[in-house]
Amino acid sequence: MSEQPYLGTLFVVSAPSGAGKTSLVSQALERDPALTVSVSHTTRAARPGEQDGVNYHFVTEQEFLSLMEAGTFLEHAQVFDNYYGTSGDWVDEQLAAGLDVILEIDWQGAQQIRRLRPHAVSVFIVPPSPEALRERLQGRGQDSDEVIERRLREAAEECRHVAEYDYLVVNDDFERALDELLVVFRAQRQCLSRQSQRHETLLRALSLADQ
Ligand code: GDP
Ligand code: ADP
Ligand code: 5GP
Repeated sequence: MSEQPYLGTLFVVSAPSGAGKTSLVSQALERDPALTVSVSHTTRAARPGEQDGVNYHFVTEQEFLSLMEAGTFLEHAQVFDNYYGTSGDWVDEQLAAGLDVILEIDWQGAQQIRRLRPHAVSVFIVPPSPEALRERLQGRGQDSDEVIERRLREAAEECRHVAEYDYLVVNDDFERALDELLVVFRAQRQCLSRQSQRHETLLRALSLADQ
C-alpha cells in the first residue's frame, strides 16, 4: 500500500509591528525548503522596496471588499486602519502539496484561524524591550513618525494576546531567535499524528512483525 500524502502544518506567526517577524520568517524560508509563507492581500500602501505579489498583493479598498464578498479570504482583519486578508485557496494548495505554510497575521486573524483550523500551531514573537521595538521601527526607516507612534501604541494591544499562542520567541539576538523559530517549525513534523500519517506502512509493518 502506498504512503499517505503528507499534509503540511499551518503556522501562525504574530508579533507587535517591528518585533522582527518578517525578517525572521524570510530567513527561516531560506534555511528550510519545506516552509512557505502566505502573501496576504492588503489595502495599505506599498513601502519603498516592497513589491506587489512578493511582500503583499496590494489592492484598493474596493478590490479588497469584492474579494471578501467572493469568499477569497480564510481570515481577514482591519489592522492600523488597513484591511489584511489571507487567501484560503492558496493556503490549502500549499498544505496539500506537503509544505508547511506560515501566516504572518495579527492576533485577530490568529483567533479566526484557531477556530477554523484547530490543528494550526501559533508562535508569538516579542522584542527584548519596549525601547528595542521603538529603535527597530525607527531603524527600519519606512514609516512616518506618526505611523510609528500609532504602531507602538497598538503593540501593547497585540501583546495582551500572548497567552493565546502555543510558542513564544524573544527576538533579541537574531540568529538565536531564528534557531528557536526553526526548532518550533521542525518539531511539528515529528508529531505522532503527522508521522503516523507519513509512515503508515512502516508502522503497520512493525506492529505485524510484533505479533
Ligand atoms: P478538519 O480536516 O476536519 O480538521 O477541518 P479543518 O477545517 O481543520 O481543515 C480543513 C483542511 O485543512 C483539511 O484538509 C485539513 O487537513 C487541513 N488543515 C487544517 N488545519 C491544518 C493544519 O494545521 N495543518 C495541516 N496540515 N492541515 C490542516
Ligand atoms: P515586523 O515584520 O515584525 O514588523 P521587521 O522584520 O520588519 O519587523 O523588523 C523590524 C526592524 O528590526 C528591521 O529593520 C529589522 O532589520 C530589525 N530587526 C529584526 N530583528 C532584529 C534583531 N534581532 N536585532 C536587531 N534588529 C532587528
Ligand atoms: P505591516 O503593514 O507592518 O506589514 O503589517 C501590519 C500588521 O498587519 C501586522 O500585525 C501583521 O501581522 C498584520 N497582517 C499582515 N497580513 C495580515 C493578514 O493577511 N491578516 C491579518 N489578520 N493580519 C495581517
